[in-house]
Amino acid sequence: MTTPAFSLCVYCGSRPGDNPRFTETARAVGRWIGTHGGQLVYGGGRSGLMGEVAQAARQAGARVVGVIPQALVDKELANRDCDELHIVHTMHERKALMAERSDAFLALPGGIGTLEELFEVWTWHQLGYHAKPIGLLDVAQYYQGLHQFLAGCVRQGFMGEWQLGLVQTGDQVELLLPALVQAAGTAAAAPAPLRSVI
Ligand code: AMP
Repeated sequence: MTTPAFSLCVYCGSRPGDNPRFTETARAVGRWIGTHGGQLVYGGGRSGLMGEVAQAARQAGARVVGVIPQALVDKELANRDCDELHIVHTMHERKALMAERSDAFLALPGGIGTLEELFEVWTWHQLGYHAKPIGLLDVAQYYQGLHQFLAGCVRQGFMGEWQLGLVQTGDQVELLLPALVQAAGTAAAAPAPLRSVI
């Protein structure tokens, strides 16, 4: 087995959402990971965008690592096609293992599970628990409302601009993913400009 060039943790919805662009982008992320020799680390299910990323990654030759709590094996349709499928006891174990196995994090559109995972690695970063890059793929302006809310947090004195800057935002897979991989300092890095920072 060859060692993957990088390991990217993807957080995304266990549902597909209502815009075909969500699914198309999830597949594009999976393909990008595979065609660049990477490894996908994700929540281990076959439902929603999670399943789309994993299937596309696998088809493009990526190594796929899934981490799913026992209680969600049926609900999120545990993906037995993973190269490694870890069935853990708790959500905390799931998130800890996903974080440990990854060089960088990427959030796609999703619901409160995705948001919780994004905010956890973000807060861990601001506290210095890790220094791994974090990206937010803002497909079809899904996260526009979140950007506005966070700008309000800064204006009203609960956050600093530097905290916003810990997350790299973009709407293009071909720009954001190389930037994350490059920031992680892993092998498949190729220089690419970012569209924006939150
Ligand atoms: P959602 O974005 O709500 O569709 O959820 C996306 C993924 O996050 C699903 O695999 C959920 O099981 C997972 N999730 C939800 N809450 C948590 C949590 N507290 N810790 C870890 N994963 C979670």
